[in-house]
Parts: sequence; C-alpha cells; structure tokens
Amino acid sequence: MQNTAHIIGAGISGLSAAVRLANAGYKVAVHEATHQAGGRCRSYFDGATNLTIDNGNHLLLSGNSHARAYARAIGTEAGLVGPETAQFPFVDIKTGQRWQIDLGNSRWPTWVLDEGRRVPDTGLTDYLKLAPLVWASEQTLVGKSIPTEGILYQRLVQPLLLAALNVDPPEGSAGLAGAIVRETLLAGGQACRPLIARDGLSAVLIEPAVKFLTERGHTVQLGHELRSFVSADGKVSALNFGGEDVVQLAAGDAIVMAVPPRAATSLLPGLTAPTEFRAIVNAHFRIEPPPGSPPILGVIGGVVEWLFAFPNRLSVTISNGDRLVDLQREELAQAIWNDVCKAGGVSGELPPWQIVRERRATFAATPAQNALRPGPVTVLKNLFLAGDWTATGLPATIEGSVRSGDRAADLVLAAKRP
Ligand SMILES: Cc1cc2nc3c(=O)[nH]c(=O)nc-3n(C[C@H](O)[C@H](O)[C@H](O)COP(=O)(O)OP(=O)(O)OC[C@H]3O[C@@H](n4cnc5c(N)ncnc54)[C@H](O)[C@@H]3O)c2cc1C
Repeated sequence: MQNTAHIIGAGISGLSAAVRLANAGYKVAVHEATHQAGGRCRSYFDGATNLTIDNGNHLLLSGNSHARAYARAIGTEAGLVGPETAQFPFVDIKTGQRWQIDLGNSRWPTWVLDEGRRVPDTGLTDYLKLAPLVWASEQTLVGKSIPTEGILYQRLVQPLLLAALNVDPPEGSAGLAGAIVRETLLAGGQACRPLIARDGLSAVLIEPAVKFLTERGHTVQLGHELRSFVSADGKVSALNFGGEDVVQLAAGDAIVMAVPPRAATSLLPGLTAPTEFRAIVNAHFRIEPPPGSPPILGVIGGVVEWLFAFPNRLSVTISNGDRLVDLQREELAQAIWNDVCKAGGVSGELPPWQIVRERRATFAATPAQNALRPGPVTVLKNLFLAGDWTATGLPATIEGSVRSGDRAADLVLAAKRP
C-alpha cells in the first residue's frame, strides 16, 4: 500500500520535503494554514505600486546547491538569474566612492590575491584574519572571532554577514557565519554568483512546486491549519484540523512539520526552539532603473544596505531592521528614497512606493538562539521537523530551508526501510 506523507506548512522547507517524497513514491498531502503557499518566500500584487512584488528581495548564490537542486526538480532552475561572473558592485553614499569586488569564476578564492579584484585599500593579511571563522564553533561570537572594524569589515564582511545572519554581525554565531564563508567566499567565484528569482519568488520557487505536486495527483490544501496532533504509542495517530476535520493515519504514514517555531512549539509542547527574531525591511519604488543598473548593488553609509534593479522597480533590503519597524511609513520611505537616489543614480520626487516590514523575518542567529534549534527527530516516531530555524548549521536562508526539508524527507524514507 502506498504510504502518505503529510506535510504541515507550504513554505520552502515543506515544499522541498513534499517534492522529494513525491519523487520517492509517497503519496503527499500538504496542509497550509493560510490561503497562499510560500510562507516567508512569496509574491503578491501590490496596489500602491501596481506591481507584483515579493515579500522580501531574496538573494541566492550559485553555491546554494540544495536550493538549486530543488528548483531543478520543479523545472525552474533557469528562473534563477544573475550575472555571468561573481561581481559585486558597491557604493559608499557618504563619500560617493564606487568599487567592485570581482570574485571571478574559479573554484578557489584566488581573487583575494589580486589587488584589482579585492576591496580597495585592503591587503591579503586583512583576509587572512577572517580564517578563524572557518573553524569557529557555533557557540562563539563573531565579535570574538574576527576583527569587527577596519576597511575590509566595513566594506565586505559587515554587509555580507548582516545579510546572512540578520543580526548585528558581532553578536552573531561565528559558526553560522563560518558556514556561509566556507560555502561562498572560500569556495571561489563559482559559488558566489548572485541569483535572483527575476519573475518573482512565487513564480519561480513556489507555484511550480504546487503544480508539480497537484499534476501528479498529490494534494496541497490551503486554508487548512493543523490544530493538534493526536498521538498513541509514541506515534502520531491522527491530525486534527478542527471540528470534524480529523485525518486518521495508517501505519507507515509520516508527517513533516515545517511550520515556524511558535506554531511548532504550540503543536508539540516540550519542543525547544528559538524565541528571538529579527525584522527585515524591504522598500519598493515604481521606477524604471537607469540603463546599465547592476541587478544588485551593495550600499554602505546609509540606511539602505542592498539595492536591487528589476524591470519597472528599484527595491531595497535592510536587515536587522527592528529599529525601523515602528517608524512612520512616509518618513521611512522618504529616507530610503534619498539613499536610493544617491546610490542608484535616480532623482525626483518619491515615486509610487511600498514598504514591507517582516517583523519576524528570521530567528536571531546568535549563539544563544542557535543553541535552541532542534534537530529533525521528535519524540513521536513518525513526526519529523523541517524549517529554517531547525539545526541546519546555516542561518535562516532558502538554502537552509531546502536542506531541512530534504533531511526530513530522507528520515521519512529511512524510517520506512526495514
Ligand atoms: C523579508 C525577508 C527576506 C529574506 N531574504 C532572504 C534572502 O535574501 N536569501 C535567503 O536565502 N533567505 C532569505 N530569507 C529567509 C527565507 O525566506 C526563509 O528562510 C524561508 O522562506 C523559510 O521557509 P520555511 O518553509 O522554513 O518557513 P515559512 O516560510 O515560515 O513557512 C512555514 C509555513 O507554515 C505555515 N503554517 C504555520 N502554522 C501552520 C499550521 N498549524 N498548519 C499548517 N500550516 C501552518 C505558514 O503559514 C507558512 O506558510 C528572507 C526572509 C524574509 C522574511
């Protein structure tokens, strides 16, 4: 008899588990509480700008092997687009200085040896001082592991780690930062090519997964919130979706719970999970980017951190954005627009805009919060966990989410083997 895998939560973690289990011969039933799949990685139509926008600008790198394999599995790897080589232009809007880091296309970080390709006014010894990150433990602070001042820090390390960890880098986990450095900067330009879902997150990473599943006879139920697990003999025996809506499980059925930490701890009391989160603020401006605008520009010296150029739109990402979530929207939009004008070579009155503030965008990637991340196995034998907040060894990213989903799916498959 074909066993059923129930996936709770249709974010990237749940969908990647669902696709893997569908390919492995399980019948898959995805249950999503809201009326849209994608969780924290989704697109929607925004009336203020009259554009379809993403809840947040998401950047992948060519070294994100699990995320790319997931996109390949649902047939949309070509929808992740970026420049041919790993070049990252930057501007300091205080001084007006512009530069570009050129990581080339090698498997090795040879770019640090070339003065013309590394950060201006830095030397090889500055890069060697980052080495402790590579072997740092997850309990160590970034601030105790590497220098957190100086030109290299301000122009490269701070922007990179802030974006990856979504905390002020010195308070971040050096082990998590090290995982990022090992898989990107240290893996050479070939692993660092920026990739963006140009047609939108939902079009590239979410809807094709839903289509992949439903076309093969699996189900993705939206507006189907799991209320509780019913357990017997150390296993989940039924899923309670409220009222009469209770799904009985057969022997051999399995569940992957891929919901955010708060929902997970309320569904599975006794589970430990991160309790602190950080905001990410995105701003979108309806304007045609000037010809030749880079798809992604690092911005130093202002409130804006990264500027993305899309057709008809300039978009901004600001990480660790708790300080901005309670500011008046118009005031914030104007401050961000002022930076965009300086960085992006545009001018004029504020165009149609939207600000999206994801208050609980990611767990805070500090050593203390990282220590609260659980593994994928639970006290209930047929229930496995996935999610960017589970112990993946990476900060909360799409790559970490896909890895968690793949890992949970593999455990479901392994549990079935005699
Ligand atoms: C603004 C922003 C910018 C980001 N930028 C980047 C970036 O540049 N690069 C990058 O790699 N990552 C980025 N991330 C992180 C990335 O989006 C997340 O790591 C990833 O989307 C998390 O996916 P998930 O499936 O683990 O969780 P979620 O997306 O939170 O999915 C969980 C799902 O479970 C559902 N759910 C909850 N409770 C229940 C229930 N009881 N029953 C059924 N369903 C339930 C939720 O509705 C949700 O759909 C960003 C995140 C944000 C918010």
